[in-house]
Amino acid sequence: MSHHVVLANYIDGRLCAPRSGRYLDVFEPATGGRYADCPDSGADDIDTAVAAATRAFPAWSATPVAQRAQIMNRIADLVESRLDEFAQVESRDSGKPVALARSLDIPRAVSNLRFFAAAITQFSSEAHSADDAINYTLRQALGVVGCISPWNLPLYLFTWKIAPALAAGNAVVAKPSEVTPFTAWMFAQACIDAGLPPGVLNIVQGNGPNAGRALIEHAGIKAISFTGSTRTGAAIAAAAGPKFKKLSLEMGGKNPTLIFADWEASEANWATLVRSAFSNQGQICLCGSRLLIERSIYETFTNTFVEKVRGLRVGDPNDAASDLGAVVSQAHFGKVMGHIALAREEGGKILCGGDAVKLAGRCAGGWFIAPTVIEGLDARCRTNQEEIFGPVVTLMPFDTDDEAVALANATEYGLAASVWTAGLSRAHRVAARLESGIVWINCWMQRDLRTPFGGIKNSGVGREGGIEALRFFTEAKNICIRIG
Ligand code: NAD
Repeated sequence: MSHHVVLANYIDGRLCAPRSGRYLDVFEPATGGRYADCPDSGADDIDTAVAAATRAFPAWSATPVAQRAQIMNRIADLVESRLDEFAQVESRDSGKPVALARSLDIPRAVSNLRFFAAAITQFSSEAHSADDAINYTLRQALGVVGCISPWNLPLYLFTWKIAPALAAGNAVVAKPSEVTPFTAWMFAQACIDAGLPPGVLNIVQGNGPNAGRALIEHAGIKAISFTGSTRTGAAIAAAAGPKFKKLSLEMGGKNPTLIFADWEASEANWATLVRSAFSNQGQICLCGSRLLIERSIYETFTNTFVEKVRGLRVGDPNDAASDLGAVVSQAHFGKVMGHIALAREEGGKILCGGDAVKLAGRCAGGWFIAPTVIEGLDARCRTNQEEIFGPVVTLMPFDTDDEAVALANATEYGLAASVWTAGLSRAHRVAARLESGIVWINCWMQRDLRTPFGGIKNSGVGREGGIEALRFFTEAKNICIRIG
């Protein structure tokens, strides 16, 4: 797909241009070249989409769950049948290695659809019986809901939201990130081909201030499921709160990785650790960006870790040998490089990386950054407090379990943590004390879609995943029957 592509919205079952006729530039991070136009939709497009969804809702919510599941599975099959093409496009749009899009992003988008198609057929509600009455609870679809997703795992997170919303019987207006709009546009075609009734899902492309803001403020939207930065989450909460919309917010992180002296330093564990720091160029909300290391192994650990990070290959995302591709945009490149400069100013010692990577040929204009490891910084400095969301990690030593926990908890965030130790009781003790919605022990990003997913503190409000997502996208109604 080398020619310039003009993307479209998907409203009321049809692909259509934005009302204004305005478009945003879409860039290929690996080359820096402009290669597509993304609709710069506004309030009028959102209005049209909400109206279509409102019309579609009664029939969709009344459609038997088995039938809803069948259509969702058909969409999943269509995406899977074009997996390679979706993976190529996701990589081109975001800068991530094609291999990663092929092994992680697109397969996970397919499983999100299949998982919630199956889950809705197993969804149940409670009954509470007493001597003189019986109560039962209905969990009914909300109506029209809004889903807003970020650029780091584009189709993966887009489907993670719309799948439970649709399965539960809602009609959806979704806005993917304007930075990576491409796979959502392809997804629209899969929905059309699968026979999803018009208006059940509407995809309105555009940026936050125009399309995003109009979506969250629209009176017809009953709930908003958002994944993105803490700053945007706060703006959404401020706008949606007084309108009493249901909110699910998945936001930023500054995740700690705790490595105790007794951890099992196997090759497989080293590989997972390195991945937990630099996978997707460090642009996964779950990436560990603060490595806390027990002092007795600090030096040996650091030497090996730095050696392994130096071995990572930054290169053309199309090249199977590339471990890291490009960061997502020129603006994000500038932000991450600014954080590295700040770390230097704060007195950090750069053990490896610290610079942009200049590639030759096709990728000469791309936004590449060397995986960077920094030590010697205080836990309270900005580098250790602010989310960088790039291939940059810091190392800090600790002496006791208490100190490790205190350092781990010393940020405003609380999304995920990973703990590496062979000590069973220590693992449980430490996990219970971490201020974090998700804790992995001797693993990272090992996902079971049934588990509650989300953060505490400034990382999130509410949980996604399994039954949590189905409950979010439904309203509980209690019905009490007096027994004579
Ligand atoms: P972002 O907040 O800039 O944008 C996210 C989405 O919100 C985009 O679709 C954007 O257009 C939209 N948006 C922006 N302003 C808006 C507004 N005022 N009203 C409505 N919508 C608006 O985030 P990003 O840069 O795309 O993504 C990176 C961030 O996402 C990081 O902070 C990362 O930690 C976070 N993230 C969190 C999770 C999680 O599960 N907790 C997962 C992935 C990414």
